[in-house]
Amino acid sequence: MATLFGKLASRTRKKSAGAGNQSNRPLFLQSPYAQTTLIQGSIKRLVDLPKYVDLSEWLAINTFEFFQYVNMFYGSVSEFCTPTTCPSMSAGSCEYHWTDSSKRTLKVSAPQYVDFATTQIQAQLSDDTLFPTKSGAEFPPGFLPNVIRPIHRHLLRILAHIYHAHYPHILQLQTEGHLNTLFAHFACFALTFDTVEGLSAWAGVTGLQIGSGLAAGGMSGAKSSRDKEREKDLEPLRELVAELEPMIA
Ligand SMILES: [Zn+2]
Repeated sequence: MATLFGKLASRTRKKSAGAGNQSNRPLFLQSPYAQTTLIQGSIKRLVDLPKYVDLSEWLAINTFEFFQYVNMFYGSVSEFCTPTTCPSMSAGSCEYHWTDSSKRTLKVSAPQYVDFATTQIQAQLSDDTLFPTKSGAEFPPGFLPNVIRPIHRHLLRILAHIYHAHYPHILQLQTEGHLNTLFAHFACFALTFDTVEGLSAWAGVTGLQIGSGLAAGGMSGAKSSRDKEREKDLEPLRELVAELEPMIA
């Protein structure tokens, strides 16, 4: 990812067909912003599991990088994200709540949510029993569902908040192409390795099968009520996935 952000110039792809009525859409879905990325073509080749790399290792490396970049983007707008400007962790009409260690659901401001989430993720990434650093050490059982998915869910919510609440600041900083590229990479990775719950909300707008990068392949079974609940998390960025589809699929 460092190469992507460091060396490639921002390019604007041609406006995609069917952009619809521009004025009713959030700014980040309007042309040319929705189509501005750092690369042209699909990002899939950067996402697929490289030969001879262990799947858990690949999930871990990419999670480290996504966390670093999401943190960086939030940091760039954090002075505008206060309990007054953002009293809830929202993305459009969607509101995300924090669940604490006692499973209590709390309504918190956006900066409070991001603080809770990043503190928790940082602690997990530094925990050698969850993300082993010694060679030959085993990743814990259920690494994908129990460790990776909760982290990616928080990262997704922070990205959704940045797009919906702080896009004018992203435009001021002229980082909209970087943000779209990060998001396309995140979405492509999520669809390939099934790292976010409720992905049906996005799969329908791309040519990708959920979990195509996993050994078992594909999605298993019918949708649970939990999946349907989780689809709501993905709704605020579903149309952006459709706009970025040439990069993701
Ligand atoms: Zn905010």
